[in-house]
Parts: sequence; structure tokens; C-alpha cells
Amino acid sequence: MSPQAANTAANLLGKSPEELREFLQVIGEPGYRGAQIYHAIYRERRFDFASMTNLPAALRERLAREASIELPRIVRRHLSSDGTVRYVLAVGDAANGTKPATIEAVFMPEENRQTICISTQAGCAVDCRFCLTATLGLMRNLTAGEIVGEVLVALEDNRAALKPQTNIVLMGQGEPLLNFDAVTTALRILLDPKGVAIAPRHAALSTSGIIPGIERLAREKVRPNLAISLNASSNEQRDQIMPINRKYPLEKLLDACRKYPLKSREWLLFEYVLLGGFNDSPEDARRVVKLLANLRAKVNLIPWNPGDLPYERPDRARVEEFQRVLMEKGVPCFIRDSRGQDVMAACGQLALADSAAAANIQTSPAAS
Ligand code: SAH
Ligand code: SF4
Repeated sequence: MSPQAANTAANLLGKSPEELREFLQVIGEPGYRGAQIYHAIYRERRFDFASMTNLPAALRERLAREASIELPRIVRRHLSSDGTVRYVLAVGDAANGTKPATIEAVFMPEENRQTICISTQAGCAVDCRFCLTATLGLMRNLTAGEIVGEVLVALEDNRAALKPQTNIVLMGQGEPLLNFDAVTTALRILLDPKGVAIAPRHAALSTSGIIPGIERLAREKVRPNLAISLNASSNEQRDQIMPINRKYPLEKLLDACRKYPLKSREWLLFEYVLLGGFNDSPEDARRVVKLLANLRAKVNLIPWNPGDLPYERPDRARVEEFQRVLMEKGVPCFIRDSRGQDVMAACGQLALADSAAAANIQTSPAAS
């Protein structure tokens, strides 16, 4: 498409079925074509109008002139020795009025499924002290189309090797609940059986604890599992590593969690990044048990992934002891060793790093 055409073409990515219907009607086409385009983009992953054979030829040609599907562009793939791929993606187009930005998404293949970790903002404003993304600051919110686009690009790039089940985790760059509208619009498409068709129980949104966002999410009809980054066993400790705790302190956060309407068999997930010598003692574990009383909660312990920050990885023995204390008190608790550490793809390492991973850069076969 010529740069001039790009200026006027409507980007259809991220539009709901209703918005597509309306778009078609506005340009004088039958509204039901909207549902056909929705199916073609999200279910079939057809990204150029010429290949949408469920549409009449004349409409395909017209859409090619008057509309576009702006997917994030793959700038770089960092392939880990464990099969994880960290994608560096370019989004935005000044000509279309969206600020160019660079973000990351991570594709993790497993035996029977793949998990895709996506960003919801370029950078992050929350400023957790242990997280490399924080060092980027916030560049901007992502649009719904960009968020859905991350998943589509990762699926498409691995098309030949896809397993039947896809999980998505909103745990990349950014705080999802500080970009609430775009995130929920994207989730409606991702979790729609007629859309990308990811099962809601296979999706998780992780928040640093934005209480108004948790309350709004509670009112959504279809929602992902909720994960809360607890990361500390007292306000004093949490204040030091998560400045957001001053605004939304533990007692209020856990109160909002207690009010969160869980369906049967639904659990709240609490993530706890273990920082060696800081929050990883058995006393911390006992305090966590108390904090989580009266909550249907599971805990994921994440040993801190190194970056250029003044923290240490915890000793393995301390991690296991921490887990034991929780389990003994009846709190289900798992140790999550992050994947893709060798290419800076692990939790808290998404800061557009190039150098550390340079030796491992490869182009996957799907890319060539
Ligand atoms: N902004 C959201 C989601 C992205 S971060 C949030 O904070 O919840 C996803 C998870 O990675 C969070 O639980 C966060 O606490 C954790 N994390 C951040 N930096 C980390 C690091 N260096 N090592 C391990 N986990 C980290
Ligand atoms: Fe932002 Fe999450 Fe990193 Fe905190 S841990 S700075 S909320 S991405």
C-alpha cells in the first residue's frame, strides 16, 4: 500500500463484530460482511483482503484500497535454548496517528500447548524496583488491535508447529489494569469463541494491584484468571519495592480480592517474586499465609530473574522452605522457574535488551 493510502485506510484490527458491522454499513456494504471479516481475521488469521475468499471479489478489492490490517511488525526474534522465542515488535505508524513504539511478546512452546505472554503497554509507569521493564518508563498505552495483534503474530509465526491449546498471559511489558479499555476490548476478541477462541480459563491477567481496575474487571462478563503480584509480606516491605503500594496498600488490596466474585473452581493467583535476603525468609512465608487467610488463593513463587538491578536470586533451599511453609498451612504453592532467561525473555526482563541475547539470535524457519 502506498504511504498516501495508509493515511486514509481504516485499520480493522482490534474492531469488535459490532464495529466491523458499522464500518461496512458506513461504506455502503451489507453489515453481515462484518461478521465474515471478523471470522477471516481472527479465526482464520487471514491478514490480506485478497485471501478472504469468503468475501466477493469486488469487496476484497475495495477493502484492499480503503482498509488495512495493521499487525505488529517483527523486528527481532531471540530464540532461547529452551525453545522460548522473545519477539521484539514494532507497533504504531505516525502516518496513521499512532506513535511508533517497540514492545515484546514471548512464545513458549510446551508438549501439548503454547503459552503466549503479551504486553499491554509500551514500557510501564508502575516502577517496581526489581523489574527491568520499569527502567523503560511508560512510552504509551497499546491499542486493542496491537494487543490482539501480538497474539496473532506469535501464532502465525509458529503456524507449522502449533499445538491444540493456546494459553495467553498478560504479563509482558506494562500494567494491564492501567490500560483497562483497550485490554478488555482485546480480551473480548481473544476469548470470543467466534474470535481468536482462547478459553477464558487458559488466559491470565497479572496486575501489580490496581484496585479500581480489579473492581471493574469483576464486572466483566467474560474474564481471564486474575493474578496479583503480591511480592511482599508486609506494607513496609512492599512500599520499598512497589511504590504503588502506597496508593493501594495490602489490606485494601486483599479486601478487593476478597470481594472479587470467583466462579466455582476459579482461584486467585498470587505471584511472589523472591528476592534473595529481602522477602524470602520463613517468617515472610508465615506472614503471607496470614495475609491470604479467607481467600481461595494459589501462590506462584518466582525466583527473581537477574537484570542490571541491585537484587539477588534467592537460594534454592530458601525457595523450597518458603514453599513448604505455605503448603503446610494449606496454601497451594508452586515454584515457577521462568523460561527464556538466556534471551532476557523471563518475567521482569522485558526491557528490549539486545546485547545479552545477541549470541543466541536466530531466525526461526517460519520467518524466512
Ligand atoms: N505489570 C504486571 C504484569 C507484568 S509483570 C504485574 O506486575 O503484575 C509479570 C510478573 O513478573 C509480576 O508478578 C512481577 O512481579 C514479576 N517480575 C517482575 N520482575 C521480575 C524479575 N526480575 N524476576 C521475576 N519476576 C519478576
Ligand atoms: Fe510494571 Fe509489572 Fe514491572 Fe511492576 S512488575 S514495573 S507493574 S511490568
